[in-house]
Amino acid sequence: MKLATFTESNRTRVGVVVGDGIVDLSTAAPDLPSEMTQLLSGGPDALAAAARAAEGAPTLRLADVHLESPVLRPPKILAIGLNYADHVAESGMETPKLPLVFNKQSTSIVGPNDPFHLPRVSTALDYEGELGVVIGQRCRHVPKERAAEVIAGLTVVNDVTVRDWQLRTPTWTIGKSFDTHCPTGPWIVTNDELPDPHCLDIKTWVNGELRQSSNTKQLIFDCFELVEHLSTAFTLEPGDLIATGTPSGVGIGMKPPQLLKVGDVVKIAIDGVGEIENTVIEEPASTTRIG
Ligand code: ZN
Repeated sequence: MKLATFTESNRTRVGVVVGDGIVDLSTAAPDLPSEMTQLLSGGPDALAAAARAAEGAPTLRLADVHLESPVLRPPKILAIGLNYADHVAESGMETPKLPLVFNKQSTSIVGPNDPFHLPRVSTALDYEGELGVVIGQRCRHVPKERAAEVIAGLTVVNDVTVRDWQLRTPTWTIGKSFDTHCPTGPWIVTNDELPDPHCLDIKTWVNGELRQSSNTKQLIFDCFELVEHLSTAFTLEPGDLIATGTPSGVGIGMKPPQLLKVGDVVKIAIDGVGEIENTVIEEPASTTRIG
């Protein structure tokens, strides 16, 4: 099942994608929560009810709705650095002995087709195509053998990065967290549809030119090991998003570096999950908000 968050007629709610249509769960299953984090919190029973309600239900055309990030405001966005061997090599850094974990702020989220900003304060804008894991159950101390049980499903993430801000201090948080720098979507593909997250082709194009091409079997720490490691320290909650790392081919790694500029279109596709496509725009004057 493909679970999406969408806006139509000025209302944002959850739906089930069927072909080129979407079932509005707020009408097909009015008893279910119409917000993704709450729906996921209902566990397998709620997801099964959503799947049943979607069967044969009327659909809206996908082309007529605006897809949002499947989780509008993840409680946590956890991201993993240097988690593909080929990307470690292009970065000139050492292969991590433990997952290299950093946060992206939840305010960085935008939808699968929304624009993202070239910040006022930098021109070192870069893309990172990544497999996203969405947590479905509140959990802690999850052994990797049971990690699949707490994963709701998979999505596509662009871990947009401001390279100079990332690298000028030892921690990466600010350079990874600018507003609009976490395009995510187009939906969550639930576990039943894609039980093995470690055999998926992942590709990134900039203006139609293929830049990244790898497969999630190349992950150094796989999705299940990441869930085990992260949940050793803290509680994972429904809607938490784990961006599992990017393969080689980022702009900064090219010779010469090819950083993003206004008008560039970045498309990321993961087999069986879906694709997101986002255009770089100038940071608008409206981002200045005081009081
Ligand atoms: Zn990344």
